[in-house]
Amino acid sequence: MSRVLIIGCGGVASVAIQKCCQVSEVFTEICIASRTKSKCDALAEKLKNKTSTVITTAQVDADKTEEVIALINSYKPDLVMNIALPYQDLTIMDACLACGVNYMDTANYEPENIDDPEWREIYEKRCKDEGFSAYFDYSWQWAYKKKFEDAGLTALLGSGFDPGVTQAYCAYALKHQFDTIDTIDILDCNGGDHGYPFATNFNPEINLREVSAPGSYWENGKWVEIPAMSIKREYDFDEVGGKDMYLLHHEEIESLAKNIPGVKRIRFFMTFGQSYLTHMKCLENVGMLSTTPINYEGHEIVPIQFLKALLPDPATLGPRTKGKTNIGCIFTGTKDGKPKTYYIYNVCDHEECYKEVESQAISYTTGVPAMCGALMLLTGKWNKAGVYTVEEFDPDPYLEALGKYGLPHKESFEPVLVD
Ligand code: NDP
Repeated sequence: MSRVLIIGCGGVASVAIQKCCQVSEVFTEICIASRTKSKCDALAEKLKNKTSTVITTAQVDADKTEEVIALINSYKPDLVMNIALPYQDLTIMDACLACGVNYMDTANYEPENIDDPEWREIYEKRCKDEGFSAYFDYSWQWAYKKKFEDAGLTALLGSGFDPGVTQAYCAYALKHQFDTIDTIDILDCNGGDHGYPFATNFNPEINLREVSAPGSYWENGKWVEIPAMSIKREYDFDEVGGKDMYLLHHEEIESLAKNIPGVKRIRFFMTFGQSYLTHMKCLENVGMLSTTPINYEGHEIVPIQFLKALLPDPATLGPRTKGKTNIGCIFTGTKDGKPKTYYIYNVCDHEECYKEVESQAISYTTGVPAMCGALMLLTGKWNKAGVYTVEEFDPDPYLEALGKYGLPHKESFEPVLVD
């Protein structure tokens, strides 16, 4: 029996909300709150008479901590699920601390305005000290650790698929399959086809910032940074087939490097088709990925936000997308003194997702783990005060819940390794 405030009502949140409504015995009451309340109302209407979860809606600008505080104080939730954008992570964490409520999200903090001089100074120092230049990193949210500990509250960071399930796979491998893990390769394959020459499958601004940034991986205790898309491999994915994949910087590498003892190398690869890459390069070359505002005929325009307005809304790709995703982790290491390899992954079918929740598989593979993370906190299965990433909790009940609610895992004990 719990009350949950869910902030955001986009592609991922819509799946998470529908999944919460399938577990009404835990999610007895939810409030869907977002910047555009009409979207929350439309989803609440769609779910009417289909669930015993009591749904209310609210308008909130989560960039404003005081608005989130007012909403929390009036709704009095047991947990706040932040499924808005990474830009709101810190304001919502501040509100949770002010009101004494647990917090969770699906992506680590990054600022909306990367030209903000105060942020930029800290960012440039971090680039120099840490050796990677992505705009997102965990330092901002890890800085809340003591505050959450002192308040006796939990903040669960990044309970999507990657980050999220991939870290649970790492914790599971360490708990059940290995004595020591030497290398981890995280492979994110989207074999889906939506028929558009170019579209992103989650928020375009966040997606394009991530993909156009330099790649990096963790090796022998430090980051190695490479130009964007400069390391390419081919891999034959179960149920999808052969795909080109490229090494990217990804947030879970940062926390796994701290939490998997003795790990020597962690890499993250994502598949992209040639059409996506050609469009992205062209848009980047003409300045359309820029987050710096320009003045156009008296109006201030942020190029990447204008591009977002032109691109298909990821939430509308569902009915058009065919094919499957395959996301998982390949490990090398030792067990009982012998070398061992292991691959754990999930395969998800875009059309099956659409049939169930009218969404494509990227939102589905993120929304289901968001619900499962909340389930772990609300049922007390994950229960410690502080700020934590997924691999810091027991993976077993989480993987069990993922299997039960739509994302079962598969295993291979003789995987083809990535060179
Ligand atoms: P969308 O753009 O579809 O949805 C974002 C939602 O947040 C919208 O409802 C939007 O409202 C709302 N929102 C934005 N700003 C505010 C604000 N200031 N106050 C209140 N609400 C706001 O994004 P997605 O659903 O694709 O992504 C959601 C999150 O999931 C992102 O953080 C993304 O990075 C993360 N993600 C994580 C993955 C993982 O595997 N871990 C994979 C994919 C995504 P409005 O309708 O007004 O715009």
